[in-house]
Amino acid sequence: MAKLSTQLIHAGEPSPRFAGAVSMPIFQSANFEATDVQSYTDIIYSRLNNTPNHIALHTKLAAIEDAEAALVLGSGMAAISSAFLTILSQGDHVLVQKAIYGGTQSFIEEDLVRFGVSFDFIEADRPETWTELLKPTTKMIYVESISNPLMVVPDLDEVVAFARKHSLTSVIDNTFATPVYFKPAKLGFDLSVHSATKFLNGHSDVIAGCVIGRKDLVGRINHLAAHLGGTLDPHACLLLHRGLKTLALRVSAQNKSALHLAQFLSAHKSVTKVNYAGLVTSPSYERTQRYFSGHGGGVLSFEINGDADAFLNNLKIPIQAASIGGVESLVIRPAQSTHLGLGVEGRKKAGISDTLIRYSVGIEDPDDLIADLKQALEK
Ligand SMILES: *Cc1c(COP(=O)(O)O)cnc(C)c1O
Repeated sequence: MAKLSTQLIHAGEPSPRFAGAVSMPIFQSANFEATDVQSYTDIIYSRLNNTPNHIALHTKLAAIEDAEAALVLGSGMAAISSAFLTILSQGDHVLVQKAIYGGTQSFIEEDLVRFGVSFDFIEADRPETWTELLKPTTKMIYVESISNPLMVVPDLDEVVAFARKHSLTSVIDNTFATPVYFKPAKLGFDLSVHSATKFLNGHSDVIAGCVIGRKDLVGRINHLAAHLGGTLDPHACLLLHRGLKTLALRVSAQNKSALHLAQFLSAHKSVTKVNYAGLVTSPSYERTQRYFSGHGGGVLSFEINGDADAFLNNLKIPIQAASIGGVESLVIRPAQSTHLGLGVEGRKKAGISDTLIRYSVGIEDPDDLIADLKQALEK
């Protein structure tokens, strides 16, 4: 099988090419002529995520995680909510990693419970604590490959083993590790979900999501997603398709720079704490070695001695904006953005302080990024 960088360019490309076009054309059409329709899913209609732009992406995304199938959707949250609503029914229970992406957590705590689904949070790096939270109705276990914003790497082998032992569906949000460093299907996960808005697209110009994994499960999610309607527009498909081609190049540069930044920050006297799974001092380091061959990803978070907002305003290169994984560096306080919805109590429980700073490292020169951090810390 071809390696990742080759798959990113060639997997899923139409054969033969449409009119010989080297780059995938956009099929900006809501509907397609239906002459030989046997079933509903034979109708090519953009809401059903089955235009040539969708099909090409599905094939490419499944290939890069060595999985059976994939489905693109209108956002990461469309992918995540569709997965939860497909796997869980009224009366079911789900185990969820503590301190995950704020939108996912709010969806579980505020929306899912209204449909009669209950949950418990687990310490994802302490498998010995999970069994006592298991219920006869537990159906699913949900973790993030590197959690947002505290950069905890779960015991992923144990998640898969625990799910198999107790017949749970295992689902992982692989947005932070990306298929460059982790392929969940290979370890035995049933499903991975992504905010394709982040590293997969990589250019901060599209909102998109995907689910990747077992064919039967992806098929069921597609069926529900057609009803929920969170489809990905063909033009957004093309932007994602284009972004994916440089995924490996971008992510490896971002990863290298993030490690430099993390090392610089840990050595600085004004920095009190650095969360980065690729640092030897991180509690997740051993698992980072085991699962991601030592790569901690392109995002880190840290605390400083001093006024976090003044520090953010003194930074000259990164843009103060939510989201991660773009070619430009981005900084934000999660308490003021991605995790605002959790409220003060929710953040306290999750261990996310109001002064925590999250830094998503872009592809700028790392020397410039470090010089910029230095001047802002020393102001
Ligand atoms: C951004 C993000 C999401 C949500 O994705 P959207 O594309 O914004 O809907 C989910 N999980 C993680 C880890 C994220 O960073």
